[in-house]
Amino acid sequence: MTVTDAPAPVPTGQSQASAPVPAFAARAAAVGGSPVRDILAVTARPEVINFAGGLPAPELFDAAGVAAAFQAVLTGTPGTALQYSTTEGEPALRAAIAGRTAARGLPTDADGIIVTTGSQQALSLLATALVEPGDTVLVESPCYLAALQAFSFAGAHVVAVPGDDEGLDPAALDGLVAAHRPKLLYTVPTFQNPTGRTLPAGRRAEIAAVAARRGLWIVEDDPYGELRFEGERVPWIATYPGAEDRTVLLGSFSKVMAPGLRLGWMRGPATLLRACAIAKQAADLHTPTVNQLAAARYLADNDLDAHVARVAGAYAQRRDAMLAGLGASLPEGSSWIRPAGGMFIWAKLPEGYDTTALLPEVVKHDVAYVPGAPFYAGEPDVATLRMCFVTQTPGEIAEGLGRLGEALRG
Ligand code: PMP
Repeated sequence: MTVTDAPAPVPTGQSQASAPVPAFAARAAAVGGSPVRDILAVTARPEVINFAGGLPAPELFDAAGVAAAFQAVLTGTPGTALQYSTTEGEPALRAAIAGRTAARGLPTDADGIIVTTGSQQALSLLATALVEPGDTVLVESPCYLAALQAFSFAGAHVVAVPGDDEGLDPAALDGLVAAHRPKLLYTVPTFQNPTGRTLPAGRRAEIAAVAARRGLWIVEDDPYGELRFEGERVPWIATYPGAEDRTVLLGSFSKVMAPGLRLGWMRGPATLLRACAIAKQAADLHTPTVNQLAAARYLADNDLDAHVARVAGAYAQRRDAMLAGLGASLPEGSSWIRPAGGMFIWAKLPEGYDTTALLPEVVKHDVAYVPGAPFYAGEPDVATLRMCFVTQTPGEIAEGLGRLGEALRG
């Protein structure tokens, strides 16, 4: 730089002309705003009966048990509880999760588990470890919204696999795998978000066989499976022949203990877990030590299964309250799926209804649902909607459905 092209000195106290900052990454720019999110923001008003959220019932949290567990680890082992930890997770919690997984038919040891910051983090770690921009990822139709986001952020080409009221169609999956050579299939086989549907055992076996024959990772996301109200538990896809070495099973304490703990986990082949652990190191080093140790303490001192049975009992009554009121609330010709567990009912209004367009009017009646359209990776069915039945009491559910009926009748 010569004296002549040097920038002129800026007199003190005078503002400097500034060049614009560089652009956001394309993936961040593409996310943009969401009109549905903006409408639903007003549902935070206390008078709104909000079926739109996916919030576990707060009065059913075992707050005393969780508080006692935190108290025990903070007074008993404060130096460990407040210290950095390993990326893969606290050994006591990994061992407890492995034990629970093995007890449900999938032999697992502590090294086969990585603790994650909610199972949501597992989705972004898997996207980082497996997905190159442009890779195809197969998802259900409709699909858990934040999984669509995680895969889209990674630059995936997301393709929806058709299905019906029992979940995704293995024959359609086979054809799409042959056509697209996808990296992975993402599925929530039990009490799915958003539909509440559960994939029968036969289809699970067929999906495992497709993955084995054609070469495919399966991401089996199961945050709701423990919340079963009736019927027999269906084995994880990971237990079927062919799926063993290519299925990542995701679990979470969010729906059975408390979502604020942000504790989830992944179980899968050692090589993939290693890649995810490296990705996790870059993301957050590790999941909070104190939360992990408190959860391990809670599991040692309490019967989580008995707690979950109590929660599921209350949720079953709430589901029944919603099912009892839907017929009078939704327009003639609507249909819905009766879930055997979980948190959600998925309904379809008659052709011609658009649940996104109807939402502002519905919210004026102090009630809310989530329109179905954003849950679709492919062509949306705009007549669908999701309602969460666990957050309100049966009385509030009846009141909310009454308001919804009035709103929809215009
Ligand atoms: N997967 C599914 C299907 C979900 O519905 C949710 C929560 N709504 C998550 C993952 C993330 O749960 P968390 O991070 O709280 O474990």
